[in-house]
Amino acid sequence: MVSMPGSGQPASGVQEGTRTAPTGANGGRLDSADAIVVGGGTVGAWCAYFLRASGVGRVVLLEKDRLGQGASSRAAGVVRTQGGTAWAVQLGEWSRRFYLGQAELLGIDSGFTPQGYMLPCFTPAEVTAAHERMAMQNSLGLDVRWLEPDEFDRMNPAMAPGHTLGATYCAEDGYLHPPRNVTAYAHALAVSGVRVLEHTSFTGLDVAVGAVTGVATSKGRIAAPLVVLTGGPELAAVGRLAGVTIPAGAVRHQVAVTEQHPDGGQRTAACCSACRTRTSRLARPIAWTPGTWS
Ligand SMILES: Cc1cc2nc3c(=O)[nH]c(=O)nc-3n(C[C@H](O)[C@H](O)[C@H](O)COP(=O)(O)OP(=O)(O)OC[C@H]3O[C@@H](n4cnc5c(N)ncnc54)[C@H](O)[C@@H]3O)c2cc1C
Repeated sequence: MVSMPGSGQPASGVQEGTRTAPTGANGGRLDSADAIVVGGGTVGAWCAYFLRASGVGRVVLLEKDRLGQGASSRAAGVVRTQGGTAWAVQLGEWSRRFYLGQAELLGIDSGFTPQGYMLPCFTPAEVTAAHERMAMQNSLGLDVRWLEPDEFDRMNPAMAPGHTLGATYCAEDGYLHPPRNVTAYAHALAVSGVRVLEHTSFTGLDVAVGAVTGVATSKGRIAAPLVVLTGGPELAAVGRLAGVTIPAGAVRHQVAVTEQHPDGGQRTAACCSACRTRTSRLARPIAWTPGTWS
């Protein structure tokens, strides 16, 4: 996300801090870059890596804490191509292919496992919506199919049978290992030459004549023509520091880890459903609201 307030003045959130520049990992002054990415989670870090990979020269990543200290190391790790919009489907499919090719590209991977993924329906309205979603996904080449209730029950014996009206299913969806993903992007940042500044907070955006000119940080200013803002659950706050309104928020999720269900094999497909209606009925270790990351 590149934010560029239209005024010729510094963005309202810019703090007039020290004019000195931060110090890079090698001890040298770091007063300019070709691109700066804010936030060392999976979005910011992979973005910084891909900026370098696409030929951008000096890329700096700012992280107020340490790489992976945000939501990215705490996620359940589901990688789902079954998005609710065409963009989400295409992004999901691109991500899945990237995760599959990581080892060859980088010599390290995020632990992606194509386990399969189901989205169960519990009301006729959900069935209608699922078929509309599936038609859109199939038109984009995604191999998603409909499971009748008995097939759904057979495929996931860890769940109480007889409760669904069917489900959509994509065998190519899966999960990655979030801490391993953090390790993978830390490695990718290092080998691609991204300058990572941990314990360095973004505090404001510098603009002049309607164009981004750099950032203010807790350790000084860095000039750059391109700034990417990420921040996970704190993205709206990062936006405020830049003087822009970013309509992003966070919802607390819970991941409950149980022992393996005796009927659930390693290849049992993952399943997504709404917490409030499922936890009392289904023996399902992980539950969250559908569409949260579609
Ligand atoms: C319990 C749980 C389960 C989840 N399960 C899944 C799942 O199964 N599948 C899925 O796709 N997603 C899942 N998610 C969501 C997923 O974790 C997030 O969408 C994703 O990690 C967001 O990545 P990010 O890089 O945007 O944010 P983060 O990983 O939060 O990184 C943002 C970084 O920005 C830094 N930062 C903030 N402000 C500043 C500043 N001013 N200056 C410098 N740095 C700053 C933070 O310190 C942080 O390190 C889950 C989340 C949770 C909490």
